[in-house]
Amino acid sequence: MGRPIALTGGRVLTPGRELVPATLLIEGTEVAGLAAPGEALPPYAETIDVSGCLVAPGFIDTHVHGGMGCNFMLGTPEALAVISARLVQGGTTACLATTTSAPARDIAAALDNIARASRAPRPGQVEILGAHLEGPFINPEKAGSQARQHLRPPEPAAVQALWEAAGGALRVVTIAPELPGAGEAIRYLAGMGVQVSLGHSAATYEEAREALGWGVRRATHLYNAMPALQHRRPGAAAALLEDPRVFVELTVDGHHVHPAMVALTYRLVGPERLVLVTDGVDVAGLEDGTYTRWEGTPVRLQGGECRTESGSLAGSTLRLDQAVRNMVRFAGVPVAEALRMASETPARALGIDRKGRLAPGKDADVVVLSEDLEVILTIARGHVVYDGRPGGRAETIG
Ligand SMILES: [Zn+2]
Repeated sequence: MGRPIALTGGRVLTPGRELVPATLLIEGTEVAGLAAPGEALPPYAETIDVSGCLVAPGFIDTHVHGGMGCNFMLGTPEALAVISARLVQGGTTACLATTTSAPARDIAAALDNIARASRAPRPGQVEILGAHLEGPFINPEKAGSQARQHLRPPEPAAVQALWEAAGGALRVVTIAPELPGAGEAIRYLAGMGVQVSLGHSAATYEEAREALGWGVRRATHLYNAMPALQHRRPGAAAALLEDPRVFVELTVDGHHVHPAMVALTYRLVGPERLVLVTDGVDVAGLEDGTYTRWEGTPVRLQGGECRTESGSLAGSTLRLDQAVRNMVRFAGVPVAEALRMASETPARALGIDRKGRLAPGKDADVVVLSEDLEVILTIARGHVVYDGRPGGRAETIG
């Protein structure tokens, strides 16, 4: 175990959910506690001066497919390392590796790789908390850029096969509840402790309400790939918004949801239920141009937008640091709340108590940001994994 680390001079997002001047103490892989400014530090502590900066829990991206040309569907250690390097630069210290619709054997292989990665987290890399299965149990009418030929109804055998392939690493499953067999599938998955998320769905308000009764507790990128919120036909979105048990994913890149709707949604559900996600795809982080995604779909990347040849949005190039800045800039959200929606809320949505808050005994996952919310330093389980300070370096282990 290395020397204790003391981050001094910054304002820390406390478990009390305010940004207060304090020193954050880290020992090994855990948060040791907070000290008042000027309070004596443990002897031998390595001091990192973060004066003028904000210190927050590391971001947790619960819907991300990849980046820098790699996709979690490949799931190899090399692909994970490439994706991880981009995420940690943006302050993300943990994520759910998110799969897409593909032949059943390919999804099973990806889930197996993701499960291995989640069982043996590598120091120096983003922590894979498990898998988010997005497809194949989705509605072809609302498939977005997912491959329609691989979609199928959530029949018990198919659902159980993927559950088993994931070896306990399945955390979130996106399902369209109007599909035949969805009731049984949702009850089964919810009973296994999976958070079932309504998404890529044409469900009406009434159908969504019924699905909430079966155990749906999350919305997959709310508003996108579901019927629009409409005053005579409120659709699934209204049912998800009004239920206090439901966590709501929002892709706040300025393209997927209009800033006015982001602000409205925040006012309605608050930071307790709003989960910032990226839906970042494999071309995220690459230069503008034309690319072929991992499964062969050609996409065009321009000015932060990723679209298929038919012109539909094909996931985003967002990272959570940008999502936090967007929440503040175009939704007028207080900084402390925007930071919580990228850390504490996603952790709580998954029932993961050891992450999302800077309190004694929690994982030492930390992001240090400048006043204008640019990431300066990222610490994952006590390791400095990104250091953007002049002369800084990223510790790259394994
Ligand atoms: Zn997605």
